[in-house]
Amino acid sequence: MDPNILHNLSYGMYIVSSFKGSSLNGQIANTVFQITSQPVTIGISINKQNLTHEFITASRRFSISILAEDAPLILIGRLGFKTGRTEDKFKNVKYSILGSGCPAVLENCIGYLEAEVVGTLDCGSHTVFLGQMQESKVIALAKPMTYDYYHQVKRGTTPATAPTYIKEEASKKQAGPLKKYRCSVCNYVYDPVIGDPDAGVTAGTPFEQIPDTWVCPVCGAGKKDFVSEGLRL
Ligand code: FE
Repeated sequence: MDPNILHNLSYGMYIVSSFKGSSLNGQIANTVFQITSQPVTIGISINKQNLTHEFITASRRFSISILAEDAPLILIGRLGFKTGRTEDKFKNVKYSILGSGCPAVLENCIGYLEAEVVGTLDCGSHTVFLGQMQESKVIALAKPMTYDYYHQVKRGTTPATAPTYIKEEASKKQAGPLKKYRCSVCNYVYDPVIGDPDAGVTAGTPFEQIPDTWVCPVCGAGKKDFVSEGLRL
């Protein structure tokens, strides 16, 4: 089997959210699909370890916020590489509460939909939830972010809990005239050729010259958590 074939499957980038009692949680997901149109049924795949899984199981509701292409890595990192068990992921995020009680993210998203769970499929590490759409809204006319764009242009990484995580991704090594540095927490690679324009680090800035206050745009780890690509992690 060649796992590289899986890189050729296409996906989008979404925030899947839910609630339990008065608590809210959300996570980044790429496996979101429309299954049928009458009624509109949406399928999502969620890791059983994730708090969002617990919340969807409890409330039988989930919302999908569709990320815009220009969504910054820091938003994706906050929702995708942190856990809602230790911090409020919605703190400092602009959102509204839908009729069901699910939050919908309003910033850097082009719209949202909310669904009621009508079926589940146990897939081992993940559960596929099927939901019937109850509410939806377009909030901005912009391009939705694709999973490929996230990886190729935003230089984003995939957490080990994602349905599409491939182990080899974490072990890629690259050499170049300017040294790349890898975040030991989330595997984001700082490429000096690209810099980190979202954080004001211009293209061509060597890692050593980035201000010490700079943090990993994906997971928020500090500079000290980065390791030269030439070293074994
Ligand atoms: Fe990181």
